[in-house]
Amino acid sequence: MKVHEYQARDLFKTYNIPVNDYKLVSNAKEAREASMAWKQVVVKAQVLVGGRGKAGGVKLANSPEEVEAKAAVISGLEIGGYRVDKMLVCDSASIEKEYYLGLILDRSRQGITLMLTDQGGVDIEELAEINPSAIHRLTLHPHKGIDGATLDSFLANSISLEGLRRQAISTIKNLYSLFLENDASLVEINPYALTPGGKMLALDSKINFDDNALFKHPEIEALRNPEESSPDELEARTKGLSFVSLDGDIGCMVNGAGLAMATLDLIELHGGKAANFLDVGGSSNPQKAVDALGIILRNNRIKAILINIFGGITRCDDIANGLLMARKKLDIDVPLIIRLVGTNEKEGRAILKEAGLDAIYDLDDAVRKVIRAARGVS
Ligand code: GDP
Ligand code: MN
Repeated sequence: MKVHEYQARDLFKTYNIPVNDYKLVSNAKEAREASMAWKQVVVKAQVLVGGRGKAGGVKLANSPEEVEAKAAVISGLEIGGYRVDKMLVCDSASIEKEYYLGLILDRSRQGITLMLTDQGGVDIEELAEINPSAIHRLTLHPHKGIDGATLDSFLANSISLEGLRRQAISTIKNLYSLFLENDASLVEINPYALTPGGKMLALDSKINFDDNALFKHPEIEALRNPEESSPDELEARTKGLSFVSLDGDIGCMVNGAGLAMATLDLIELHGGKAANFLDVGGSSNPQKAVDALGIILRNNRIKAILINIFGGITRCDDIANGLLMARKKLDIDVPLIIRLVGTNEKEGRAILKEAGLDAIYDLDDAVRKVIRAARGVS
C-alpha cells in the first residue's frame, strides 16, 4: 500500500526524522493562507506517484500571491493518472546539496538494504542505470538492528558526510525503526537535503507498506487512499477476493494465487492478454463464483473468460453450482471456457454437463481455447 507524502511526513515526525514545516491544503486560497508565516514556500501536489517535480507538481513561490497563483496551476493538474485534490505547502528549505536515503525489503540479500547516494534529487532508477556505483548499499539483518559503529564507517567510506554523520545516523536509525515497526517494504527520502545552516532535512518522503502485514496495523490501514485501487479492486476486497486489474481482454477466475499467476503466464506465453488477476481463494462458497464473475464482467474490454479450477479444498461441484447461479443472475455475453479438475471433479462436470456446459481437463488446451475465443475464432 502506498501513502501520500504528507502521510509519510506525519509518520516521519513521530519517529523524530527532521522535516521542513508543512501544512496540508485543498485549494489555492487555503494554500495562500497556510503560507503566510513563511518567506519562501514550496507548493507540492499530493498524488500517489513520484516524479511530481518533472510533471510541474512542485513549485517554489516567494509571496502569498505567488503561492496562490502556483497552487491554482498545480490543483488543475493530472499527474500519472491522478487528479490533484490535495497540496502540501511547505516552508522552503535552502538546499546546499541533495542526497538520497532509502531502505528496501531486499529479498535477494535476505535483509533490509540501506541505499545512499550523494547524487540525490534525481530519479534513483535513472541513477541506478547511468551510474550504479554512485549508489552505496548496506544490508541490515532485521533481527540484529543497526550498530552505530558499522553505520559510521559505512558513511565514512561512502558519502562521507564529514561533520554531519551524527544527524544522518540518528535519521537512519529512526527510519529503520519506522520501517520495521510498521512493516514497510520501502521508505525513501529524496532529496535528503543539506541546508546552508548545516541541517539534514527530509524534503520528500515516500513509504510503501506490506499489504499482507496491514492487519497488524489498523492505524496504517486507516491511511489507505481509495484512489490507489480501481473500483473493481475495492469491491473485490470487500467480497474477500484477491483481484488486480490488468489491461488485456481475457477475464480470469482461478482458485489459488500461485495457480492464478501460472495461468496469467500461460495466457501470455500463448499470445493472449489477461484482463485481471483473480484468486477466488480456497473456500467452497458458490456465491464467490457469482461475485467474481460479476466483477470480471463489468469490464467492457472482456472478450472471453477463463475459469481455471484445480480443486483441493475448493470442491468442483461447488464451483459448478456457483457458475450455474452466476449464469442465472448475470448476463454472461462472452464465451466462458472452463477447466475443472480435482476434488469432486466428476460431480462438478456432471452438474455442468446437465446445463449444457463442457469442462476441459488440460490447462494448456483451455488457455489456447480462450485466446481463440477472445479473437473471435473457434
Ligand atoms: P518528486 O519530484 O515527486 O520526487 O518531488 P520532490 O518532493 O522530491 O520535489 C522535487 C524537487 O523539488 C526536489 O528534488 C527539490 O529539488 C525541489 N524541492 C522540494 N522541496 C524543496 C524545498 O523545500 N526547497 C527547495 N529549494 N527545493 C525543494
Ligand atoms: Mn522526490
